[in-house]
Amino acid sequence: MEKLSNPQQTIAVIKKYGFDFKKQFGQNFLIDAHVLEKIIAAAEITKEDYVVEIGPGIGTLTQYLAEAARGVCAVEIDRRLIPVLEETLQEYDNVTIVNQDIMKTDLCELVREKNGGRPIKVVANLPYYITTPIIMRLFEEKVPLDSVTVMVQKEVADRMRASAGSKEYGALSLAVQYYAEPYYAATVPVNCFIPRPGVNSAVIRLKRHEVPPVSVPDEKQMFDMIRAAFGQRRKTMVNALSGAPGLHYSKEELTQALQQLGLDPRVRGEALSLEEFAKLTVRLSEMDRKETEG
Ligand code: SAM
Repeated sequence: MEKLSNPQQTIAVIKKYGFDFKKQFGQNFLIDAHVLEKIIAAAEITKEDYVVEIGPGIGTLTQYLAEAARGVCAVEIDRRLIPVLEETLQEYDNVTIVNQDIMKTDLCELVREKNGGRPIKVVANLPYYITTPIIMRLFEEKVPLDSVTVMVQKEVADRMRASAGSKEYGALSLAVQYYAEPYYAATVPVNCFIPRPGVNSAVIRLKRHEVPPVSVPDEKQMFDMIRAAFGQRRKTMVNALSGAPGLHYSKEELTQALQQLGLDPRVRGEALSLEEFAKLTVRLSEMDRKETEG
């Protein structure tokens, strides 16, 4: 069978099955061989790797993954696509198709079952309506994984790799960079998809850190602080954090902690690096401990 990266082949399959695209599932299928090769190269897939693909669609990227990897498990929510995938992937004996919502899939169990609990690689042209929840779930639930290589909206890729001080910098940059090292692989224009999405896309690889770059006594507290700081972006840290959900610090305590770290208490969250957020978390926990002891 001709590969689905050939647009004529994709159109033929869509016609044959009378498939109509569902916007609510973020269905934009790739039709560019060059982009598909770039995704495989960015993910550094070898015959040693087991890959989990989120949202295979009609199997376009899956065909490339099946050729490059030892095995692939493709999780697709839309049951109308299952018979299509059975046909387009029939030549490959190393692919498992699962009809499930990725947000309800027990990913740790899947990795245990398919790869003996050893780290997998996640590769996907993600449905854009749930990009961030999917990525955060993979990291927060400590799914054994080596890397996540995904097509996302370009603007989201820019936020993931942004540094302190830039306008794209925010809670997503800090969360992603706490768990992984981002590598921006390619910008992908709208004409590489059918139907065309409204905005440009990008391929980004997030290579999981073996050990996070900063160490904090309480990850949740650091992320509560980050969320509060960027929830009200124009406010100073002291104003945004005092009385924020999950935090119990007064303006005086926050001012004191920031000063002890050599930071201006009028600083805004957008100016603080991951390291500075971590230091602030450590400082505030020390203040808590002293209060309990004293
Ligand atoms: N991988 C294909 C490609 O590159 O041409 C299709 C990518 S398309 C952007 C996103 C795919 O994710 C669609 O097939 C859609 O049905 C599927 N999808 C959407 N939400 C999903 C979910 N919650 N769980 C699993 N798959 C989902």
